[in-house]
Amino acid sequence: MNDDPIGSLDELYQEVILDHYRKPRNYGTLPGADRSAEGHNPLCGDRIALQLKMKGDVIDEIRFQGKGCAISTASSSIMTETVRGKTRAEAGAAFEKFHDLVMGKGNGADGGLGKLAVFAGVSEFPVRVKCASLAWHTLKAALEGSGNTISTE
Ligand code: ZN
Repeated sequence: MNDDPIGSLDELYQEVILDHYRKPRNYGTLPGADRSAEGHNPLCGDRIALQLKMKGDVIDEIRFQGKGCAISTASSSIMTETVRGKTRAEAGAAFEKFHDLVMGKGNGADGGLGKLAVFAGVSEFPVRVKCASLAWHTLKAALEGSGNTISTE
């Protein structure tokens, strides 16, 4: 079956994804947040609400809440860890790298992906690419200040 990415992923990657799914980092609400956005992936039913606090151009604090599959929850958790303390431009660059990776365009060999590399196997599951990308699209919406609910459809 093609809809069980977790079971098909490399063992180490499975562990990291399941760990973030069970114990999502930066989960909850953020008092005093100055940016937010919500994301919805109707294909899978994943939902995420993202809140950010900026310090100048830097993402000082970030939290998310949501309900979704293991891939979307782990991706949200790892995304928040990745972009916290980064400037908008750095976060945008991380999104591009991540996007290339899950689209099967990046080989991850250039490094700099950190934990994001665990999503490399997702590129083999086109339906799951949206699960993995949801948090990043939502981040983009929050940074652009559109404040709307974004949908992967
Ligand atoms: Zn999903």
